[in-house]
Amino acid sequence: MTDWIAAARAAGDVAARHADEVDRQARFPAEAMAALRDAKLLGLLVPKDEGGPGAGIADIVSICHLLGQRCAATAMIYAMHQIQASCLVRHHGGAAWQRAFLKRLASEQLLLASATSEAGVGGDVRSSVCAVEEKDGRFALAKQATVISYGADADGILVTARRTPQSPASDQVIVVVSQKDARFEALQGWDTLGMRGTCSNGFHLKAEGEVGQIMPVPYADISAQTMLPTSHLVWSALWLGIATDAVARARAFVRAEARKKQGATPPGALRLAEATGQLQLMKAGLVSALRQYEAALGSEDALSALPFAIAMNTLKITSSQMVVQIVGQALQVCGLAGYRNDSAFSLGRHLRDAHSAALMVNNDRILANTAQLVTAVRDDSGLLA
Ligand SMILES: Cc1cc2nc3c(=O)[nH]c(=O)nc-3n(C[C@H](O)[C@H](O)[C@H](O)COP(=O)(O)OP(=O)(O)OC[C@H]3O[C@@H](n4cnc5c(N)ncnc54)[C@H](O)[C@@H]3O)c2cc1C
Repeated sequence: MTDWIAAARAAGDVAARHADEVDRQARFPAEAMAALRDAKLLGLLVPKDEGGPGAGIADIVSICHLLGQRCAATAMIYAMHQIQASCLVRHHGGAAWQRAFLKRLASEQLLLASATSEAGVGGDVRSSVCAVEEKDGRFALAKQATVISYGADADGILVTARRTPQSPASDQVIVVVSQKDARFEALQGWDTLGMRGTCSNGFHLKAEGEVGQIMPVPYADISAQTMLPTSHLVWSALWLGIATDAVARARAFVRAEARKKQGATPPGALRLAEATGQLQLMKAGLVSALRQYEAALGSEDALSALPFAIAMNTLKITSSQMVVQIVGQALQVCGLAGYRNDSAFSLGRHLRDAHSAALMVNNDRILANTAQLVTAVRDDSGLLA
C-alpha cells in the first residue's frame, strides 16, 4: 500500500464522519477536503519536473474508489478536481503560464473546478455559446454557467468557451481562470436529490486575465484524449465505491440476521450473492477500461481511435446503470433497515447519490454519440489474450 492510499483512507475516515451532515445541509465537505489538501493529495498528478509526485491515473482511480465508499460528494469533488488536473498535466503544451500554474497546484494544493455546462447548450459539452475576447495580450470572458460544482470553494476554474466571438460553437478552448480574477453572480442554488455536498450552484461567471491562461491545445483534442476518458474512469471508480459500501452494508445486515438465527442462512443472502456478482462485474469493467487507457497513453492515435472512444463511453453508461442496480439490490437485502435514514444499514444517501450518475452528462447523449461510432468500426472479434 502506498503512502497516498494510506493518506486517502485517513481522509476517507474524516469524510465518513461528516457525510450525513454534508448531505443533510447540502454543504461543502470542508473537513474532508482539508484532510485531502493537508495530505497533499490534490497535486498528486503534477509531474516531478513541475514539483509534484507524478502519480498516475490508477492512483487517482483507487483514491476515488476509497472515498466513494465513505462520502460520494467528497469523492466526486476529488474526482472532478483530478479531471481538470489531468487536462493541465497532459495539455499544457510547455506554455509558461500553464506550467507555473501546475507548480502552484503542487505547492499550494489548489482546488480546481470545471465550467462546461452552459445556458443554451444544456449538457452538450462540445458546444459553447460564450466566447473568449482577446485584446492587447489580455482576455475577457462571460459565461452563464448553469452548474459549477464547488465553484465558490475552488481556487481555479477551467472554463470552456468558443475560441473567438466569430468561432463556431464547437471551436472551443479551455481558459484557466483563477478565483481572484473571476466574479460570480448566483444563477441558481443546489437543492437536489443527491450529490448535495458538491454544491453545484449555477453562476454568471465573468473573468479577465492574461492570454497565457488560454490552454494552447484545442478543447476537441483535450476532451477526446483526456477529459472524457479520465472523467469516465474516475466517476466510475467513485460510483463503484458507492456500490461497494452498499454491498458492505447488505453483508453486515445478513451477518446480523445470521447471528440471530444460528444455523440458518438468512433469505437476504441470496440477493447478497447476486449483488456481489454485479459488483464484481462492475469492478472488472472499470479495471479493464483503466488498462485500456494506460495502454493508449502516449499515443494520440490510440487515444483518438474509435474503439477507444466506444470503450470509454460504454464504461460510463454501464457503471452509471450498475451503481443504481446494485444499491437497489442491497436495499432489497436490508429491507426497511436500509430504507430508514436513521439506521446503520441506511442506503438512502447511496441511492440518491447513485441516481446522479446517469445524468452527469446524460446517458442518452453519450449513447447517441456511441451509436454513431459503433456503426463505423469493424467487428470486435479479437483474441482475449
Ligand atoms: C453532481 C453533478 C455535478 C455536476 N458538476 C458540474 C460541473 O462542475 N461543471 C459543469 O459544467 N457541469 C456539471 N454538471 C452538469 C452535468 O455534467 C450535465 O451537463 C448536466 O447535468 C446536464 O443537464 P441537463 O440534464 O439539464 O441537460 P441535458 O444534457 O441537455 O439533458 C436534458 C434532456 O435532454 C435530453 N437530450 C438533449 N439532447 C440530447 C441529445 N443530443 N441526445 C440525447 N438526449 C438529449 C436528455 O436525455 C435529457 O432528457 C454536474 C451534474 C451533476 C449531476
